[in-house]
Amino acid sequence: MLKKFVIYLLLLNLFISCKSLNNPLNVIIIDRAKPEEEKEKITLEESYKYDVDEDFLTDKKYPFRFKKDAVSSIVFHYTAQKFKKSLRSLTSGGNSSHWLVPEKGETIYKIVNEDRRARHAGESLWKYRKNVNVISVGVEIVNLGFRCRALRKYCPKNSLEWLEYPEEQQKLIVALAKDIQKRYNIDPMCVVGHSDIAPERKLDPGPLFPWKRLADNGVGAWVTEEEIRKEIGNIKNSIKGNISRLIVQIRFHEFGYDIKKMGSSNKSLQNKILKYQYSLRKSPIGELSELNQVNDFGNKKPDNNIFDDNKTNFAIQAFLMHYRPKLYLANENSDQFTDHYDKHKLDHIPDRESDNAVDNKAKYNVENIELLATLQALLVKYPNKTRVSCEFDLPK
Ligand SMILES: [Zn+2]
Repeated sequence: MLKKFVIYLLLLNLFISCKSLNNPLNVIIIDRAKPEEEKEKITLEESYKYDVDEDFLTDKKYPFRFKKDAVSSIVFHYTAQKFKKSLRSLTSGGNSSHWLVPEKGETIYKIVNEDRRARHAGESLWKYRKNVNVISVGVEIVNLGFRCRALRKYCPKNSLEWLEYPEEQQKLIVALAKDIQKRYNIDPMCVVGHSDIAPERKLDPGPLFPWKRLADNGVGAWVTEEEIRKEIGNIKNSIKGNISRLIVQIRFHEFGYDIKKMGSSNKSLQNKILKYQYSLRKSPIGELSELNQVNDFGNKKPDNNIFDDNKTNFAIQAFLMHYRPKLYLANENSDQFTDHYDKHKLDHIPDRESDNAVDNKAKYNVENIELLATLQALLVKYPNKTRVSCEFDLPK
């Protein structure tokens, strides 16, 4: 009798709470079961209207694209300068981008037509393609990057401050990116930051860039914590023992980062890895279990002569900034960045060959399995058709 009464009370209670929330019961339960990140509603933003100012076009200075090099990538940058200086340096005839997004307002500046090659990437590589200028649309965003509140050659962690992209500007970025995406149907893995394609030289657009918001709007790639945890489970089921750096490097290389040792051609790289029963350029992604032997080798010989450790550290930095910004910020080393303000301005002029980023001590305390799982989750979620380049066939 008492049991019945308790059940009755529970039911009544549920009924009342559902009614008061004006929401069906099952929705509440699903909502509670979901992790924090998943609760965020993923909805495409309303198309934000912006004006295009073409008064600063510098077309004649830049060559037309060849037909075979159609646009297949977007590269985002921050200018590290205020608006007026940014506009001046992008239109002075040396380096440039296709678009300049100011901090506020409703106007985006067109500097170079998209059918021409602007010079924003400099020495760069993504998915085996050198000189990413040839295949990309460059978007410069007015943002000073970071500030250091200490006058030292290297900025201590507690004095380093990355600068936000204001909401108004984010709206402009998203709207422009959606339009570019509509024009070229760009593979999500080919929407990159300058730091991704030149990791040893560049830090822009930095860890506060709205990559997730862009991906929620159909531009670029993003994976959730839940998707990453799932891959950690898969990896543990498929690969025995500790995860070696070599496996992580293979995936970084497949993903698109430039981490090869100097002088090792793709063919010799392929041959070296093949020895351990793994073939690059597999489609779809090679099975994790196939990587077992490579893992054994990598654990026995952590100093492999296939990939460059220094370049790998910079790729890890760029990757974390882009796909795991919270983890990146939590792991940021102290005394990491050079930040003499004047140098800083100079060094972020697009296309310049050297940058203070080389002075970074890009080392992160992130476990190999964490890196591999994030790479894996991205590769599984966004299987690039060709794997080896950004060009892919448009749906017929
Ligand atoms: Zn840049």
